Amino acid sequence: MTLLIDGKKISAAVVEQLAIDTKAFIAEFGVTPGLAVVLVGEDPASQVYVRNKVKQATAAGFHSTEHRLPADTGQAELNALVEQLNNDPSVHGILVQLPLPEQLNEPEIIRLIAAEKDVDGFHPLNVGALASGMAELIPCTPMGCMIMLEKTLGDLTGKHAVVVGRSNIVGKPMAALLLQANCTVTVVHSRSADIEAICRQADILVAAVGRPEMIRGSWIKPGATVIDVGINAVEKDGKRRLVGDVAFSEASEVAGAISPVPGGVGPMTIACLMKNTLTAARQQISA
Ligand code: NAD
Repeated sequence: MTLLIDGKKISAAVVEQLAIDTKAFIAEFGVTPGLAVVLVGEDPASQVYVRNKVKQATAAGFHSTEHRLPADTGQAELNALVEQLNNDPSVHGILVQLPLPEQLNEPEIIRLIAAEKDVDGFHPLNVGALASGMAELIPCTPMGCMIMLEKTLGDLTGKHAVVVGRSNIVGKPMAALLLQANCTVTVVHSRSADIEAICRQADILVAAVGRPEMIRGSWIKPGATVIDVGINAVEKDGKRRLVGDVAFSEASEVAGAISPVPGGVGPMTIACLMKNTLTAARQQISA
């Protein structure tokens, strides 16, 4: 029987614990952790993500603010907002929703956010800390995947993990975390040869590609644990649906455990953003 890795259930437990930790933090320091979320433009998917993030932050007991800027915002204006949030002591975490409209320079914004408030974990200082095993603020999606894997498998030592995708926000930090957990890690990407054969060797397969149902059942080693990060909107039977990067029904015939889309990695990502906000607040209070 294939185990369904239920991201809704696992994330609910994370959020529940977080609400307890947040209460204790507020009681101890008299400070409410603050999260500022910045959205530039009207992208419908980004609007949904931002709304959910603000809602979860409030549910966790944080002080949360939403900053919406028009799609034609210039670099100087966005930089000024980030600087203002950097200097605001009631804000412990800053999240600028990506992608940004094309006139804006994403790397410049990522570098401008104060590293100690960078709850996405994308600032070069936090990326470097992750690579050397010293990170406090870890990118939320890979952190969520690790919680799911550890919940499902316990100790990951010695397992062969294959990560499909090498983006800065998922693939690369995912590989770093798996390495830290003593896995043997292979990363494949759009220029890799023999992806199918490499996937078939995986005890743990993490798909972060952005191609609907690319990974077929025949690519999966029997009994493997599959984490599907992909979120792809497709038309099926005249309806708009979300599917992952893994062909779920085929894969669940072969895998030992698999995360669904939706209801898998998505809710974990938001829960981990909240974890990072509390971590950031704790670090800033004790600095
Ligand atoms: P990205 O486009 O930045 O990176 C995709 C990666 O896939 C690249 O490294 C590329 O080399 C690789 N790739 C592309 N085509 C490939 C192919 N044919 N074979 C092998 N590798 C290939 O995407 P991303 O930001 O890493 O996101 C990946 C997916 O995860 C997207 O569907 C995205 O929506 C989703 N995502 C979900 C969450 C969540 O919370 N669940 C968070 C972030 C991203």
